[in-house]
Amino acid sequence: MKTTQELIAASAKYLANTYARFPIVLVKGQGVRLWDSDGKEYLDFVGGIAVDALGHCHPRMVEAIRAQADSLIHVSNLYHIEPQIRLGKLLCEHSFADRAFFCNSGAEANEAAIKLARKWAKDHWSTDRFEIIVMHHSFHGRTLATVTATGNEKYWHGFEPLMPGFKHVPYNNLQAVERAIDSHTCAVLAEPVQGEGGVNVPGDDYLPGLRRLCDQAGILLILDEVQSGMGRTGKLFAYEHWGVEPDIMTLAKALAGGIPMGAMLAREAVAASFVPGTHASTFGGTPFVSAVAHAVVSTIIQEDLPGNAARVGKYFLDRLAALKEKQRVVTAVRGKGLILGLEVSVPARTIVAGCMERGLLVLTAGDNVVRFVPPLIVTEADVDRAVAILEGALKGLS
Ligand SMILES: *Cc1c(COP(=O)(O)O)cnc(C)c1O
Repeated sequence: MKTTQELIAASAKYLANTYARFPIVLVKGQGVRLWDSDGKEYLDFVGGIAVDALGHCHPRMVEAIRAQADSLIHVSNLYHIEPQIRLGKLLCEHSFADRAFFCNSGAEANEAAIKLARKWAKDHWSTDRFEIIVMHHSFHGRTLATVTATGNEKYWHGFEPLMPGFKHVPYNNLQAVERAIDSHTCAVLAEPVQGEGGVNVPGDDYLPGLRRLCDQAGILLILDEVQSGMGRTGKLFAYEHWGVEPDIMTLAKALAGGIPMGAMLAREAVAASFVPGTHASTFGGTPFVSAVAHAVVSTIIQEDLPGNAARVGKYFLDRLAALKEKQRVVTAVRGKGLILGLEVSVPARTIVAGCMERGLLVLTAGDNVVRFVPPLIVTEADVDRAVAILEGALKGLS
């Protein structure tokens, strides 16, 4: 396996066929740049799908990895873990939350949130209060419970029977939530900004409205900030834009900057329903991943990367809006901070391929939205280069 063609052939032969991969092999990264196995350079506006918040091989992250690898990589949660304690404190001090549970992915963080909401409802209400209201076009993961919560039938097919206890309603529609809440409801679960479902930003009354409906019914508001959290939208957590706080929040993607980690954060009265024995994870919050996450989160806060996401994101959104005026295939432009979407009247994948050929990595969000989730360290100059390449790809269509 020396050439790119040999590697791709082996990939097709030995790996589960779960991804429609593009025919390149990425082998090196630095900042917002990547190189493939043939030495071609790319500007990375995918960032491992909103994961590589600090870009590739950021010195503070590399240093944290080296230092922790030299002292302690893994011990069980049977014992207190110093980096995990520091990380929990940092996240709680910068959010609504009082306690954190660590796991390894977004789906797992949402599993923990679903279990905690059900347990809380059993503790405070009754055994028949277990339903969670979830949104159309949402994405919460690929485990059986989280794929059921996900509001997109295409992820369900072949896996039935799905998990009981989820009720799907349209996103950004408070009346639908109000109608759906009944004596079986224990929580409402939503993304503050939908990522996979097409980069959908709700109206300004939506999150405050969800908070009010949950308070009136005495049920929990769970926000899935797996993609929108860690500075992505221009605030450390997206809920801060709307002046409301959830009862439970889930995080993953950018949390440890590319080392796998998920987290479920909750306020005290809700977290109290988890006691020794109710939930656990072998790898959750190991010394290694916790130390890396602490370095990543500290860097995001100290270098005001949410501020950079807001500023550069606004500049990027304006440039995309200008592009929409010139290019007829662009039908809408939307997003917040550095999660932006370009709705197009052709298959979005053709534009993604056109950009890749020209040295820019972007991805889709559904069939007709091109999504941009670059590292949070991206600059206006990087955006200028990306927009020039994107414009070339759009022109190349006709
Ligand atoms: C990516 C994502 C998930 C799933 O995370 P995994 O780490 O792939 O399990 C869940 N929720 C949202 C909003 C996501 O964007």
